[in-house]
Amino acid sequence: MRIAVIGGGLAGLTAAAYLSEHPDVEGVVFERSPQLGGRAFTYQKSGFTLNYGAHAVYGIDRNTISQMKQELGLQFESKQVDKRRVVYAKHNQLTLAPLDFMNIMKTNVLSTMEKVRFVGEVAAIIANIHQLKNYPTLGEYLDHSHAAGDVKELWEHLVCSNFFITPEEARKVPGTVIAEYYHNLFLSSKPVNYILGSWAVITDQLQQKIENSGRWSISVKEPVESFRKEGSSLILNTKTRENLEFDAVIFAIPVQQVCKIMEETPWETSFEPYADSTSTEVLVYDVGFSKVVARPFHYISDMDNKMFISDVSATDHTVVPENGQLLQGIAYLNDHFDSDEERKAYMDNKTSKMEELFDQFYPGWRDSLEVKRVSKKAMVSSVKNIASNQLLPNTLAGVPFYFCGDGCVGKGELAERAFSSARNVAQSLLAGLNKPEALSS
Ligand SMILES: Cc1cc2nc3c(=O)[nH]c(=O)nc-3n(C[C@H](O)[C@H](O)[C@H](O)COP(=O)(O)OP(=O)(O)OC[C@H]3O[C@@H](n4cnc5c(N)ncnc54)[C@H](O)[C@@H]3O)c2cc1C
Repeated sequence: MRIAVIGGGLAGLTAAAYLSEHPDVEGVVFERSPQLGGRAFTYQKSGFTLNYGAHAVYGIDRNTISQMKQELGLQFESKQVDKRRVVYAKHNQLTLAPLDFMNIMKTNVLSTMEKVRFVGEVAAIIANIHQLKNYPTLGEYLDHSHAAGDVKELWEHLVCSNFFITPEEARKVPGTVIAEYYHNLFLSSKPVNYILGSWAVITDQLQQKIENSGRWSISVKEPVESFRKEGSSLILNTKTRENLEFDAVIFAIPVQQVCKIMEETPWETSFEPYADSTSTEVLVYDVGFSKVVARPFHYISDMDNKMFISDVSATDHTVVPENGQLLQGIAYLNDHFDSDEERKAYMDNKTSKMEELFDQFYPGWRDSLEVKRVSKKAMVSSVKNIASNQLLPNTLAGVPFYFCGDGCVGKGELAERAFSSARNVAQSLLAGLNKPEALSS
Protein backbone atom coordinates (compact mmCIF):
# COMPACT_ATOMS: atom_id res chain seq x y z
CA MET A 1 0.00 0.00 0.00
CA ARG A 2 1.31 3.46 -0.93
CA ILE A 3 0.25 6.40 1.26
CA ALA A 4 0.73 10.16 0.90
CA VAL A 5 0.82 12.36 3.99
CA ILE A 6 0.24 16.03 3.22
CA GLY A 7 1.90 18.19 5.89
CA GLY A 8 5.06 17.64 7.95
CA GLY A 9 3.91 19.12 11.28
CA LEU A 10 3.37 17.12 14.48
CA ALA A 11 0.30 15.36 13.04
CA GLY A 12 1.77 14.42 9.65
CA LEU A 13 5.04 13.16 11.14
CA THR A 14 3.15 11.15 13.78
CA ALA A 15 0.88 9.46 11.22
CA ALA A 16 3.83 8.63 8.95
CA ALA A 17 5.94 7.33 11.86
CA TYR A 18 3.22 4.83 12.86
CA LEU A 19 2.61 3.78 9.26
CA SER A 20 6.33 3.41 8.51
CA GLU A 21 6.49 0.50 10.97
CA HIS A 22 4.38 -1.71 8.71
CA PRO A 23 6.43 -3.71 6.19
CA ASP A 24 3.68 -3.53 3.52
CA VAL A 25 3.25 0.23 3.67
CA GLU A 26 5.37 2.75 1.82
CA GLY A 27 4.80 6.43 1.37
CA VAL A 28 5.83 10.05 1.08
CA VAL A 29 5.40 13.01 3.45
CA PHE A 30 4.95 16.22 1.46
CA GLU A 31 5.85 19.44 3.28
CA ARG A 32 5.35 22.87 1.81
CA SER A 33 8.09 24.67 3.84
CA PRO A 34 11.83 24.11 3.72
CA GLN A 35 11.68 22.63 7.23
CA LEU A 36 9.57 20.14 9.19
CA GLY A 37 7.59 20.76 12.39
CA GLY A 38 4.90 23.17 11.18
CA ARG A 39 3.72 25.25 14.11
CA ALA A 40 6.02 23.21 16.37
CA PHE A 41 9.04 24.30 14.28
CA THR A 42 12.08 24.91 16.48
CA TYR A 43 15.09 27.05 15.65
CA GLN A 44 18.31 28.25 17.25
CA LYS A 45 19.22 31.91 17.63
CA SER A 46 22.18 33.28 19.60
CA GLY A 47 22.30 30.11 21.70
CA PHE A 48 18.55 30.12 22.47
CA THR A 49 16.19 27.37 21.31
CA LEU A 50 12.98 29.00 20.19
CA ASN A 51 9.77 27.23 19.35
CA TYR A 52 7.23 28.73 17.02
CA GLY A 53 4.61 27.28 19.40
CA ALA A 54 5.33 26.45 23.05
CA HIS A 55 6.33 22.95 24.17
CA ALA A 56 4.32 22.56 27.35
CA VAL A 57 2.47 19.26 27.65
CA TYR A 58 -0.62 19.17 29.84
CA GLY A 59 -1.17 16.08 32.00
CA ILE A 60 1.77 14.27 30.40
CA ASP A 61 1.20 11.02 32.32
CA ARG A 62 -2.29 10.76 30.75
CA ASN A 63 -1.37 12.40 27.44
CA THR A 64 -1.17 10.66 24.04
CA ILE A 65 2.50 11.61 23.84
CA SER A 66 3.23 9.09 26.61
CA GLN A 67 1.51 6.34 24.58
CA MET A 68 3.58 7.38 21.56
CA LYS A 69 6.74 7.24 23.65
CA GLN A 70 6.06 3.57 24.37
CA GLU A 71 4.62 2.54 21.03
CA LEU A 72 7.15 4.31 18.81
CA GLY A 73 10.11 3.92 21.19
CA LEU A 74 10.65 7.69 21.45
CA GLN A 75 13.20 8.94 23.92
CA PHE A 76 12.67 12.22 25.71
CA GLU A 77 12.64 13.65 29.17
CA SER A 78 10.23 16.15 30.56
CA LYS A 79 10.16 18.37 33.60
CA GLN A 80 7.24 19.53 35.68
CA VAL A 81 6.59 23.26 36.09
CA ASP A 82 6.91 23.98 39.82
CA LYS A 83 3.29 24.45 40.95
CA ARG A 84 4.39 26.55 43.93
CA ARG A 85 5.87 29.08 41.50
CA VAL A 86 2.76 29.48 39.35
CA VAL A 87 0.91 32.67 40.23
CA TYR A 88 -2.14 34.64 39.24
CA ALA A 89 -2.17 38.45 39.26
CA LYS A 90 -5.48 40.11 40.03
CA HIS A 91 -5.96 43.80 40.81
CA ASN A 92 -2.18 44.13 41.28
CA GLN A 93 -2.10 41.37 43.89
CA LEU A 94 -0.09 38.18 43.30
CA THR A 95 -1.38 34.89 44.61
CA LEU A 96 -0.77 31.18 44.05
CA ALA A 97 -2.73 29.69 41.14
CA PRO A 98 -5.21 27.13 42.51
CA LEU A 99 -3.67 24.15 40.72
CA ASP A 100 -3.84 21.56 43.47
CA PHE A 101 -5.24 21.18 46.96
CA MET A 102 -2.31 22.92 48.62
CA ASN A 103 -2.40 25.89 46.24
CA ILE A 104 -6.19 26.14 46.55
CA MET A 105 -5.84 26.45 50.31
CA LYS A 106 -3.17 29.15 49.99
CA THR A 107 -4.57 31.19 47.10
CA ASN A 108 -6.22 34.58 47.60
CA VAL A 109 -8.36 34.45 44.47
CA LEU A 110 -10.98 32.60 46.55
CA SER A 111 -12.41 33.18 50.03
CA THR A 112 -12.51 30.29 52.53
CA MET A 113 -16.08 29.31 51.65
CA GLU A 114 -15.33 29.58 47.95
CA LYS A 115 -12.30 27.30 48.42
CA VAL A 116 -14.54 24.63 49.91
CA ARG A 117 -16.91 25.06 47.00
CA PHE A 118 -14.11 24.90 44.42
CA VAL A 119 -12.57 21.78 45.99
CA GLY A 120 -16.05 20.23 45.68
CA GLU A 121 -16.15 21.19 41.99
CA VAL A 122 -12.71 19.64 41.39
CA ALA A 123 -13.74 16.44 43.22
CA ALA A 124 -16.92 16.16 41.12
CA ILE A 125 -14.94 16.59 37.90
CA ILE A 126 -12.50 13.88 39.01
CA ALA A 127 -15.38 11.56 39.92
CA ASN A 128 -17.00 12.33 36.56
CA ILE A 129 -20.23 13.42 38.25
CA HIS A 130 -19.98 17.16 37.62
CA GLN A 131 -23.15 18.63 36.11
CA LEU A 132 -21.02 20.76 33.78
CA LYS A 133 -20.93 17.90 31.28
CA ASN A 134 -24.71 18.18 30.84
CA TYR A 135 -24.60 21.84 29.79
CA PRO A 136 -24.12 22.91 26.15
CA THR A 137 -21.53 25.50 27.20
CA LEU A 138 -19.56 26.68 30.23
CA GLY A 139 -21.50 29.96 30.06
CA GLU A 140 -24.84 28.20 30.46
CA TYR A 141 -23.50 26.17 33.37
CA LEU A 142 -22.19 29.32 35.09
CA ASP A 143 -25.47 31.17 34.49
CA HIS A 144 -27.34 28.40 36.33
CA SER A 145 -24.72 27.89 39.04
CA HIS A 146 -25.15 29.43 42.49
CA ALA A 147 -21.38 29.77 42.92
CA ALA A 148 -19.86 33.10 43.96
CA GLY A 149 -18.56 35.45 41.27
CA ASP A 150 -14.95 34.60 42.05
CA VAL A 151 -15.52 30.86 41.52
CA LYS A 152 -17.16 31.62 38.18
CA GLU A 153 -14.31 33.91 37.21
CA LEU A 154 -11.84 31.18 38.15
CA TRP A 155 -13.57 28.66 35.87
CA GLU A 156 -13.43 31.14 32.99
CA HIS A 157 -9.81 31.90 33.71
CA LEU A 158 -8.75 28.24 33.86
CA VAL A 159 -10.41 27.59 30.50
CA CYS A 160 -8.80 30.75 29.05
CA SER A 161 -5.33 29.61 29.97
CA ASN A 162 -5.69 25.97 28.89
CA PHE A 163 -7.53 26.74 25.65
CA PHE A 164 -5.67 30.04 24.92
CA ILE A 165 -8.91 32.02 24.50
CA THR A 166 -10.60 35.08 25.99
CA PRO A 167 -13.11 34.77 28.90
CA GLU A 168 -15.99 35.54 26.51
CA GLU A 169 -14.96 32.64 24.30
CA ALA A 170 -14.29 30.42 27.32
CA ARG A 171 -18.01 30.66 28.07
CA LYS A 172 -18.73 29.15 24.63
CA VAL A 173 -16.71 25.95 25.17
CA PRO A 174 -19.03 22.90 25.43
CA GLY A 175 -19.54 21.51 28.96
CA THR A 176 -18.57 17.99 27.83
CA VAL A 177 -15.25 19.23 26.40
CA ILE A 178 -14.33 21.00 29.64
CA ALA A 179 -15.48 18.17 31.91
CA GLU A 180 -13.42 15.61 29.95
CA TYR A 181 -10.39 17.89 29.72
CA TYR A 182 -10.26 18.67 33.45
CA HIS A 183 -11.15 15.10 34.43
CA ASN A 184 -7.83 14.13 32.82
CA LEU A 185 -5.89 17.13 34.05
CA PHE A 186 -7.03 17.02 37.68
CA LEU A 187 -6.25 13.28 37.81
CA SER A 188 -2.77 13.89 36.43
CA SER A 189 0.15 13.99 38.82
CA LYS A 190 2.02 16.10 36.23
CA PRO A 191 -0.32 18.90 35.12
CA VAL A 192 2.19 20.99 33.14
CA ASN A 193 5.48 19.60 31.86
CA TYR A 194 8.00 20.81 29.33
CA ILE A 195 9.61 18.35 26.90
CA LEU A 196 13.27 19.04 27.65
CA GLY A 197 14.95 20.42 24.54
CA SER A 198 11.71 21.55 22.83
CA TRP A 199 9.48 19.95 20.17
CA ALA A 200 12.53 19.29 17.96
CA VAL A 201 13.42 16.38 20.28
CA ILE A 202 10.17 14.72 19.17
CA THR A 203 10.08 15.80 15.51
CA ASP A 204 13.71 14.78 14.91
CA GLN A 205 12.99 11.25 16.17
CA LEU A 206 9.79 10.94 14.16
CA GLN A 207 11.68 12.08 11.07
CA GLN A 208 14.47 9.55 11.68
CA LYS A 209 11.98 6.76 12.21
CA ILE A 210 10.20 7.57 8.95
CA GLU A 211 13.41 7.83 6.93
CA ASN A 212 15.10 4.82 8.54
CA SER A 213 12.21 2.58 7.49
CA GLY A 214 13.64 2.68 3.96
CA ARG A 215 10.09 2.58 2.59
CA TRP A 216 9.21 6.22 3.21
CA SER A 217 10.61 9.52 2.06
CA ILE A 218 10.07 13.08 3.21
CA SER A 219 9.92 15.78 0.59
CA VAL A 220 10.22 19.37 1.80
CA LYS A 221 9.51 22.44 -0.32
CA GLU A 222 6.95 20.34 -2.17
CA PRO A 223 3.39 21.57 -1.53
CA VAL A 224 0.55 19.42 -2.81
CA GLU A 225 -1.53 21.59 -5.11
CA SER A 226 -4.27 19.40 -6.55
CA PHE A 227 -5.56 15.83 -6.61
CA ARG A 228 -8.12 13.58 -8.23
CA LYS A 229 -9.48 10.07 -7.94
CA GLU A 230 -9.04 7.60 -10.81
CA GLY A 231 -10.55 4.19 -10.16
CA SER A 232 -9.21 3.13 -6.80
CA SER A 233 -6.11 5.34 -7.09
CA LEU A 234 -5.62 8.85 -5.75
CA ILE A 235 -3.45 11.04 -7.95
CA LEU A 236 -1.56 14.04 -6.56
CA ASN A 237 0.05 16.99 -8.31
CA THR A 238 2.64 18.92 -6.35
CA LYS A 239 4.49 22.11 -7.16
CA THR A 240 7.32 20.11 -8.74
CA ARG A 241 5.84 16.75 -9.80
CA GLU A 242 2.67 15.52 -11.51
CA ASN A 243 0.51 12.39 -11.45
CA LEU A 244 1.90 10.75 -8.31
CA GLU A 245 -0.23 7.70 -7.56
CA PHE A 246 -1.28 6.59 -4.06
CA ASP A 247 -3.74 4.16 -2.46
CA ALA A 248 -4.53 6.46 0.47
CA VAL A 249 -4.01 10.15 1.26
CA ILE A 250 -3.87 11.77 4.71
CA PHE A 251 -4.36 15.51 5.04
CA ALA A 252 -2.40 16.74 8.08
CA ILE A 253 -2.81 20.47 7.49
CA PRO A 254 -5.00 23.08 9.23
CA VAL A 255 -8.73 22.60 8.54
CA GLN A 256 -9.07 25.99 6.80
CA GLN A 257 -6.43 24.88 4.30
CA VAL A 258 -8.18 21.52 3.80
CA CYS A 259 -11.43 23.36 2.98
CA LYS A 260 -9.61 25.67 0.58
CA ILE A 261 -7.84 22.89 -1.30
CA MET A 262 -11.17 20.99 -1.60
CA GLU A 263 -12.82 23.89 -3.43
CA GLU A 264 -13.94 22.99 -6.93
CA THR A 265 -13.39 19.27 -6.33
CA PRO A 266 -16.21 16.68 -6.31
CA TRP A 267 -16.01 16.66 -2.48
CA GLU A 268 -16.38 20.40 -1.91
CA THR A 269 -19.88 20.26 -0.36
CA SER A 270 -18.81 17.76 2.31
CA PHE A 271 -16.54 20.45 3.76
CA GLU A 272 -19.12 23.25 3.96
CA PRO A 273 -19.93 22.61 7.65
CA TYR A 274 -16.25 23.09 8.53
CA ALA A 275 -15.31 25.97 6.21
CA ASP A 276 -16.26 28.79 8.61
CA SER A 277 -14.73 27.35 11.78
CA THR A 278 -12.63 29.94 13.56
CA SER A 279 -9.07 29.31 14.74
CA THR A 280 -7.46 30.31 18.03
CA GLU A 281 -4.95 33.09 17.52
CA VAL A 282 -2.73 34.76 20.08
CA LEU A 283 -0.05 37.40 20.31
CA VAL A 284 3.32 35.85 21.18
CA TYR A 285 6.19 37.86 22.63
CA ASP A 286 9.37 35.78 23.14
CA VAL A 287 12.38 37.39 24.79
CA GLY A 288 15.78 35.84 25.53
CA PHE A 289 18.13 37.52 28.02
CA SER A 290 21.89 37.12 28.40
CA LYS A 291 21.41 36.62 32.16
CA VAL A 292 18.59 35.82 34.55
CA VAL A 293 17.08 39.28 34.96
CA ALA A 294 14.67 38.22 37.73
CA ARG A 295 12.81 35.06 38.69
CA PRO A 296 9.86 36.06 40.86
CA PHE A 297 7.83 33.06 39.62
CA HIS A 298 7.89 30.48 36.82
CA TYR A 299 4.53 31.43 35.31
CA ILE A 300 2.25 34.37 35.83
CA SER A 301 -1.26 34.75 34.52
CA ASP A 302 -2.51 38.32 34.54
CA MET A 303 -6.25 37.91 35.13
CA ASP A 304 -6.98 41.59 34.49
CA ASN A 305 -5.23 41.88 31.12
CA LYS A 306 -5.80 38.28 29.91
CA MET A 307 -2.19 37.49 29.20
CA PHE A 308 0.49 35.29 30.69
CA ILE A 309 4.25 34.97 30.85
CA SER A 310 6.08 31.64 31.11
CA ASP A 311 9.67 31.64 32.28
CA VAL A 312 10.39 28.71 29.99
CA SER A 313 14.03 28.46 31.07
CA ALA A 314 13.06 28.13 34.75
CA THR A 315 11.78 24.66 33.87
CA ASP A 316 13.67 23.78 30.68
CA HIS A 317 17.23 25.03 31.20
CA THR A 318 18.36 23.34 27.96
CA VAL A 319 16.79 26.07 25.78
CA VAL A 320 19.11 28.88 26.89
CA PRO A 321 22.86 29.54 26.82
CA GLU A 322 24.60 29.35 30.20
CA ASN A 323 22.96 31.75 32.71
CA GLY A 324 20.47 32.91 30.06
CA GLN A 325 16.74 33.34 30.49
CA LEU A 326 13.90 32.77 28.03
CA LEU A 327 10.42 34.19 28.60
CA GLN A 328 7.36 33.65 26.47
CA GLY A 329 4.54 36.16 26.79
CA ILE A 330 1.16 35.23 25.31
CA ALA A 331 -1.97 37.39 25.07
CA TYR A 332 -5.40 35.91 24.32
CA LEU A 333 -7.08 37.81 21.50
CA ASN A 334 -10.57 38.79 20.48
CA ASP A 335 -11.17 38.03 16.84
CA HIS A 336 -14.00 40.41 15.99
CA PHE A 337 -12.91 43.79 14.65
CA ASP A 338 -14.93 46.22 12.59
CA SER A 339 -11.90 47.57 10.75
CA ASP A 340 -8.18 47.03 10.25
CA GLU A 341 -7.50 50.20 12.26
CA GLU A 342 -9.45 48.80 15.20
CA ARG A 343 -7.48 45.55 15.02
CA LYS A 344 -4.17 47.41 14.83
CA ALA A 345 -5.01 49.62 17.82
CA TYR A 346 -6.06 46.52 19.81
CA MET A 347 -2.78 44.73 18.92
CA ASP A 348 -0.67 47.77 19.78
CA ASN A 349 -2.43 47.99 23.12
CA LYS A 350 -1.81 44.27 23.86
CA THR A 351 1.87 44.66 22.89
CA SER A 352 2.38 47.60 25.23
CA LYS A 353 0.49 45.85 28.05
CA MET A 354 2.83 42.88 27.62
CA GLU A 355 5.86 45.17 27.78
CA GLU A 356 4.42 46.77 30.93
CA LEU A 357 4.16 43.31 32.47
CA PHE A 358 7.82 42.64 31.58
CA ASP A 359 8.74 46.07 33.05
CA GLN A 360 6.87 45.30 36.26
CA PHE A 361 8.42 41.90 36.97
CA TYR A 362 11.68 41.97 34.99
CA PRO A 363 12.92 45.54 35.50
CA GLY A 364 15.74 46.51 33.13
CA TRP A 365 15.00 43.55 30.81
CA ARG A 366 15.74 45.62 27.70
CA ASP A 367 19.42 45.99 28.77
CA SER A 368 19.94 42.20 28.71
CA LEU A 369 17.89 41.49 25.61
CA GLU A 370 19.61 39.02 23.22
CA VAL A 371 16.70 37.72 21.13
CA LYS A 372 13.18 38.92 20.58
CA ARG A 373 10.35 37.54 18.45
CA VAL A 374 6.89 39.05 18.30
CA SER A 375 4.09 37.37 16.38
CA LYS A 376 0.74 39.16 16.32
CA LYS A 377 -1.16 36.34 14.65
CA ALA A 378 0.08 32.95 15.85
CA MET A 379 -2.40 30.13 15.24
CA VAL A 380 -2.50 28.00 18.38
CA SER A 381 -5.33 25.76 17.24
CA SER A 382 -6.71 25.42 13.73
CA VAL A 383 -10.24 25.06 15.10
CA LYS A 384 -11.21 26.79 18.33
CA ASN A 385 -13.06 24.20 20.40
CA ILE A 386 -16.21 26.27 20.99
CA ALA A 387 -19.84 25.21 20.52
CA SER A 388 -20.28 27.11 17.22
CA ASN A 389 -17.30 25.34 15.59
CA GLN A 390 -17.00 21.70 14.60
CA LEU A 391 -13.79 19.70 14.62
CA LEU A 392 -13.19 17.93 11.31
CA PRO A 393 -13.77 14.15 11.64
CA ASN A 394 -10.91 11.81 10.68
CA THR A 395 -13.00 10.49 7.78
CA LEU A 396 -16.11 11.82 6.01
CA ALA A 397 -18.74 9.71 4.26
CA GLY A 398 -18.13 9.65 0.50
CA VAL A 399 -14.73 11.37 0.75
CA PRO A 400 -11.73 9.11 -0.01
CA PHE A 401 -9.22 10.84 2.31
CA TYR A 402 -8.17 10.84 5.98
CA PHE A 403 -7.75 13.94 8.17
CA CYS A 404 -5.68 14.67 11.25
CA GLY A 405 -4.22 17.70 13.01
CA ASP A 406 -5.17 19.98 15.86
CA GLY A 407 -8.43 21.00 14.13
CA CYS A 408 -9.60 17.39 13.77
CA VAL A 409 -11.46 15.06 16.07
CA GLY A 410 -9.08 13.57 18.64
CA LYS A 411 -8.30 13.43 22.33
CA GLY A 412 -7.16 16.52 24.27
CA GLU A 413 -6.36 20.01 23.04
CA LEU A 414 -3.55 21.64 21.02
CA ALA A 415 -0.60 19.39 20.22
CA GLU A 416 -2.24 16.43 21.95
CA ARG A 417 -5.12 16.59 19.46
CA ALA A 418 -2.63 16.68 16.58
CA PHE A 419 -0.87 13.59 17.99
CA SER A 420 -4.03 11.68 18.95
CA SER A 421 -5.91 12.30 15.69
CA ALA A 422 -2.83 11.25 13.69
CA ARG A 423 -2.43 8.10 15.76
CA ASN A 424 -6.13 7.28 15.22
CA VAL A 425 -5.85 7.74 11.46
CA ALA A 426 -2.70 5.61 11.20
CA GLN A 427 -4.18 2.88 13.37
CA SER A 428 -7.41 2.72 11.39
CA LEU A 429 -5.47 2.48 8.11
CA LEU A 430 -3.29 -0.28 9.58
CA ALA A 431 -6.33 -2.10 10.96
CA GLY A 432 -7.87 -2.08 7.45
CA LEU A 433 -4.64 -3.42 6.04
CA ASN A 434 -4.47 -6.25 8.53
CA LYS A 435 -7.95 -7.52 7.64
CA PRO A 436 -7.65 -10.87 5.76
CA GLU A 437 -9.37 -9.52 2.60
CA ALA A 438 -6.99 -6.53 2.44
CA LEU A 439 -3.94 -8.79 2.67
CA SER A 440 -5.12 -11.12 -0.07
CA SER A 441 -6.09 -8.32 -2.51
C1 LIG B 1 2.12 30.39 20.25
C2 LIG B 1 1.73 28.95 20.32
C3 LIG B 1 1.83 28.30 21.54
C4 LIG B 1 1.47 26.96 21.63
N1 LIG B 1 1.64 26.32 22.81
C5 LIG B 1 1.38 25.00 22.90
C6 LIG B 1 1.66 24.30 24.09
O1 LIG B 1 2.20 24.85 25.05
N2 LIG B 1 1.32 23.01 24.15
C7 LIG B 1 0.74 22.36 23.10
O2 LIG B 1 0.43 21.17 23.23
N3 LIG B 1 0.51 22.97 21.93
C8 LIG B 1 0.82 24.29 21.81
N4 LIG B 1 0.60 24.94 20.64
C9 LIG B 1 -0.11 24.22 19.55
C10 LIG B 1 0.76 23.30 18.71
O3 LIG B 1 1.90 24.01 18.28
C11 LIG B 1 -0.09 22.84 17.51
O4 LIG B 1 -1.27 22.22 18.02
C12 LIG B 1 0.59 21.81 16.63
O5 LIG B 1 1.90 22.22 16.31
C13 LIG B 1 -0.25 21.59 15.37
O6 LIG B 1 0.32 20.58 14.58
P1 LIG B 1 -0.35 20.11 13.22
O7 LIG B 1 0.53 19.06 12.63
O8 LIG B 1 -1.77 19.77 13.46
O9 LIG B 1 -0.40 21.38 12.26
P2 LIG B 1 0.78 22.27 11.63
O10 LIG B 1 1.87 22.44 12.60
O11 LIG B 1 0.12 23.50 11.10
O12 LIG B 1 1.34 21.40 10.41
C14 LIG B 1 0.83 21.46 9.11
C15 LIG B 1 1.98 21.38 8.12
O13 LIG B 1 1.44 21.25 6.82
C16 LIG B 1 2.19 22.04 5.92
N5 LIG B 1 1.33 22.30 4.75
C17 LIG B 1 0.26 23.12 4.67
N6 LIG B 1 -0.30 23.03 3.44
C18 LIG B 1 0.45 22.14 2.72
C19 LIG B 1 0.35 21.60 1.41
N7 LIG B 1 -0.60 21.97 0.54
N8 LIG B 1 1.27 20.68 1.01
C20 LIG B 1 2.25 20.29 1.87
N9 LIG B 1 2.37 20.75 3.14
C21 LIG B 1 1.47 21.66 3.56
C22 LIG B 1 2.55 23.28 6.74
O14 LIG B 1 3.66 23.94 6.20
C23 LIG B 1 2.84 22.65 8.11
O15 LIG B 1 4.18 22.28 8.26
C24 LIG B 1 0.98 26.27 20.49
C25 LIG B 1 0.91 26.92 19.25
C26 LIG B 1 1.28 28.26 19.17
C27 LIG B 1 1.23 28.94 17.83
